[in-house]
Amino acid sequence: MTPSNIIVIIIALILFLLAFILIKTLLFARKSASNTISFKYGVPRFAQDPQVLAEHLSSVIKIQTISHEDPQEDIKENFETMQALLAKTYPLTHKNLTKELVDGHTMIFTWEGKDASLNPVVFMAHQDVVPADENTLDQWNYPPFSGKIADGFIWGRGTMDIKCQMISVFESVEALLAAKFTPDRTIILTFSHNEEVLGTGATAVVKHLQQKGVRVEAVIDEGGSVYDGIIPGVKGYVATIGISEKGYLSLKFTVQGTGGHSSTPPKETAIGILTRAITRLENNRFPTDVRMVKPMFQGLGSAASPMMQVAFANLWLFGGIITKILSRKGETDATIRTTTAPTLFHSGVKDNVLPSVAEAVVNFRILPGQSIADVCEFIRFVIKDKRVTFEPMDQKAWEASPLSPVDGDAYRHIASVIGEIWPGVAVAPYIMLGGTDSRNFCEISDCVYRFTPMVVTEEDLNRVHGVNERIGIDEFHQMADTIYRVMVRWSQKDL
Ligand SMILES: [Zn+2]
Repeated sequence: MTPSNIIVIIIALILFLLAFILIKTLLFARKSASNTISFKYGVPRFAQDPQVLAEHLSSVIKIQTISHEDPQEDIKENFETMQALLAKTYPLTHKNLTKELVDGHTMIFTWEGKDASLNPVVFMAHQDVVPADENTLDQWNYPPFSGKIADGFIWGRGTMDIKCQMISVFESVEALLAAKFTPDRTIILTFSHNEEVLGTGATAVVKHLQQKGVRVEAVIDEGGSVYDGIIPGVKGYVATIGISEKGYLSLKFTVQGTGGHSSTPPKETAIGILTRAITRLENNRFPTDVRMVKPMFQGLGSAASPMMQVAFANLWLFGGIITKILSRKGETDATIRTTTAPTLFHSGVKDNVLPSVAEAVVNFRILPGQSIADVCEFIRFVIKDKRVTFEPMDQKAWEASPLSPVDGDAYRHIASVIGEIWPGVAVAPYIMLGGTDSRNFCEISDCVYRFTPMVVTEEDLNRVHGVNERIGIDEFHQMADTIYRVMVRWSQKDL
């Protein structure tokens, strides 16, 4: 073969490769094309006055419904006061829906639909909030439980997480009842009182529904939002809907030592053995699975940079590079692997006494596709030391949630409403890194979506559980309007 022939063959191969990459990219982009359903509402538009809406949110922010790891510390009167206030603010809802309490203060409302043979839909949020850190009180523009309405915002703990969504659900039902609307299918509202700590409220709700033999058509709970400039390689607003969440596993590792005096130590001590095991875990991270973020970039379509589109359409070629880019930052690394985080370490009582035991807790967040059993097997393989035993901490273990579909009507209706409220915004599914109450519902529903309809900037991310939590008055109105529209769409027979 002459050198010129070789060059021709190489050029032909390169052209073939480029054509293949291009075709894959075009197919990828086409798949991301709009995933919406047109809909005739047949009910009045959501017409609540934004100022009145703001006052309703403000009134519940003022009540400190803080949940605690030890439920005994909860101030029960606060939950009762807030529920009484809700009854006063939303009289039609309380008159027409049945209210039940489970696990103490977790609320379930049932709005009977016309057709009892249809599976119900569920709208969720939680009543509880985290406390405001005492050391940061002077950094708040307005006190965290003032519910102050100022500068175009409602301020305080719970305005973003997540009394905003709870109030949006109540406003939607109240407005629909005022318009004499009756849903085709039953609508269930549920608001737990301990999402931020134990989450037993939501578990109790699911048990309660299971006992009644209820199968749920679709669920919407807090989750993704409309993000502004947060996702790497994507410009402008992007709405993300959580279709799954990572699993959670806190394992307590224990090594039994011999004890005794530190003047005659053995070659290996309990502390030494345990430290080495933890170091091995840190040095041998779980394998990555970049496929988990592919649906998100598929949904983003042309909102993602052309480079990102080409890369995600051709993971067979660029998977390695994408993995490298994503694993650079903690936030993005956590989207492609099960994470390992040592969080507690205890051993020893005195400087000259060998401890008879060393203990550590490591928190793992499990990527969908892996199970708790897989994680434990990996740990045993990495540590390779039978002297190190481990067991899950009480109530601190659950599997990753299954992936809810993105091609079904329930998802498409949410995407459609997002398009109505924020025209032209790309909508994409994603896997949530944090946990929500809704994971419990995967036992009784295939369609569990996590979406909080508000615009969130990078700066806003720090406000959640942080200082100066707030929501814009107009943004809050958009949020309630979104929930209202999803409720009308989901309540119809054809879902
Ligand atoms: Zn929350």
